[in-house]
Amino acid sequence: MSDFSCAQCGTCCRQSGFVYLTAGEAATIAGALIEDIYEFNRKYCDLLDRQKLVLKKHPDETCVFLKETKCEIYSVRPQQCRDFPIKWKTERSAEYCAGPKKSN
Ligand code: SF4
Ligand code: SF4
Repeated sequence: MSDFSCAQCGTCCRQSGFVYLTAGEAATIAGALIEDIYEFNRKYCDLLDRQKLVLKKHPDETCVFLKETKCEIYSVRPQQCRDFPIKWKTERSAEYCAGPKKSN
């Protein structure tokens, strides 16, 4: 399962649903962007059900940090992003992501 090679197409970053992040992850990303944590939360995060921190999305569902096909915070992206599609996936994800496959 560790031989998955991401094509960096960015398609998974344009799907419905949310990227959840912990307070620690928010602090790490804010630090990387040299943003005050409160300003970071205001600009890049929403609070679902008044308690779950998620990354903002554009109206078309694209993650706020996706530019073209690249993640602007790739080196500090949330664990949820790192774990896809090895540790979790959706019913639809096989349609747009090659997923784990044998290396040649
Ligand atoms: S859809 Fe799959 S191949 Fe494309 S960026 Fe996401 S994880 Fe990588
Ligand atoms: S944080 Fe990066 S990897 Fe995660 S959904 Fe947004 S653009 Fe994609």
